[in-house]
Amino acid sequence: MEKDISVHENISGNYFYHIAINDAPLCGAKNTMRRELSLSSWGMKSPHIGERYCQECDRLWKKIEND
Ligand SMILES: [Zn+2]
Repeated sequence: MEKDISVHENISGNYFYHIAINDAPLCGAKNTMRRELSLSSWGMKSPHIGERYCQECDRLWKKIEND
């Protein structure tokens, strides 16, 4: 089965993003919701929003990608 990769944000809507496989954040974070964001925009920062990206998800994702 194809893995369902998505970007999640904390439910408080604080622009803190995680990477999720089948809606489960890689780092194990709870209380997140799926966002309609492409993974290709992961790590991008817009000047006025100040997005943050989970370092643990980033690390784990790079590991998966390199496998
Ligand atoms: Zn995370």
